[in-house]
Amino acid sequence: MRILVAGGAGFIGSHYVRSLISGRYAGFEDAHVTVLDKLTYAGNLANLRPVTGHSRLSFVHGDITDGQLLAEVLPGHDVLLNFAAETHVDRSIAGPGNFVVTNVYGTQQLLQAALDTDVRTVIQVSTDEVYGSIDDGSWVESEPLLPNSPYAASKAGGDLLCRAYYQTYGLDVRVTRCSNNYGPYQYPEKIIPLFVTRLIDGRSVPLYGDGQYAREWLHVEDHCRAVQLVLAKGAGGEVYNVGGGIELTNWQLTDRLLAACDMDWSMVENVLDRPGHDRRYSVDSSKIQGLGFEPLVNFDEGLADVVQWYRDNQAWWRRLT
Ligand code: NAD
Repeated sequence: MRILVAGGAGFIGSHYVRSLISGRYAGFEDAHVTVLDKLTYAGNLANLRPVTGHSRLSFVHGDITDGQLLAEVLPGHDVLLNFAAETHVDRSIAGPGNFVVTNVYGTQQLLQAALDTDVRTVIQVSTDEVYGSIDDGSWVESEPLLPNSPYAASKAGGDLLCRAYYQTYGLDVRVTRCSNNYGPYQYPEKIIPLFVTRLIDGRSVPLYGDGQYAREWLHVEDHCRAVQLVLAKGAGGEVYNVGGGIELTNWQLTDRLLAACDMDWSMVENVLDRPGHDRRYSVDSSKIQGLGFEPLVNFDEGLADVVQWYRDNQAWWRRLT
C-alpha cells in the first residue's frame, strides 16, 4: 500500500507519519509513505527526523495547489491523507487570502488529482471550527456549517468540496472534524506551546478577553489514531467528529499550564480579545465511537509530558521563536 500524506511535515501530519512508519497502525506496517509538503513556516523537516531515511518514507517538497506536480506524484498511491493547511486563526484574520488558496483551492486540486489518478480513498482532516460556536450541547455531523473566522470558513469550503466530489464523481472521500489538539512538535504560536515556551523563559503569557472561551482538548496521538480508524473502517462520503477529550476554558487551561510550569497568575497578561472569537466548541463523537474510537491519553499526564518535551527540546523551538 502507498499512502500520500499532504502536510506531513506539520504538527499533526508528522505525528501520523512517525506513527505509521514506526508500525503503530495494525495492518499498515508495510505501507510506503510519500510526504508532500510546502514547508511553510509551520512545516519542518525536523518533525520527521525520528523516521528520516526510513526505506518506506519519501519526501516531496511541493504545494498542494500545484496540479501539475500532483499529477506527477500521485499515480501509484492508494490513499491520500490531507493534513496540509494554513491553520492559525490569528493569521487568517490578518491575511485570509492564503487560507482560501491552500484550504479551498488546494483541497480541490488534491481531490481532482485523486480522481484523475484512481486513488482509492481520500481522508480530509478538518476541524470542529467549521460548525461555528455553540453555547450548550454538542454538534453532530449533520449540523450546518457556520464558520466565523476566515480559517474556519476556508476549512468549511474544503469540506464542502469533499462532499461535492463524493456526490458528483463518487470519489471515496471521508472527512474528520477534530477538536483542539495538543502534543509535541506543535508550532509555538498555538496556545499550549506558546504559553509553555514563554513560561520556560520566564516571560508573561497573553490571555484573550475574559478567558472564558471553552475548547475541547485531545492529544495528537488520539487524533491520529482516529484518522487511521476512519481510513481503516470509515465509509466514503461520511463525516466523523473527533472529540471526547477534556473541555476547559482558556482560563482553566492557563491555570493548569501555570501549575505545570511552577508559575502563578502574575505571569498572565490580559490582552484585547480576538475579533469574532468563538465562545465554545463541542463535538458529539458518537459516530466515531461506533467505529471503536476512544481517547487513550489522560489529559493531565499528556500535558505534563508536553511541558517536559518543550523543556527537553529547546533546540527545536528556539529556532522558530
Ligand atoms: P500545521 O500548521 O502544524 O501544519 C500544516 C502543514 O501543512 C505544514 O507542514 C505546512 O508546511 C503544510 N502546508 C501548508 N500549506 C501547504 C501547501 N499549500 N502545500 C503543501 N503543504 C502545505 O497544522 P496542524 O496543526 O498539523 O493541522 C493539520 C490539519 O489538522 C489541518 O488541516 C488543520 O485544519 C487540522 N486540525 C488541526 C487542529 C489543531 O488543533 N492543530 C485541530 C483540528 C484539525
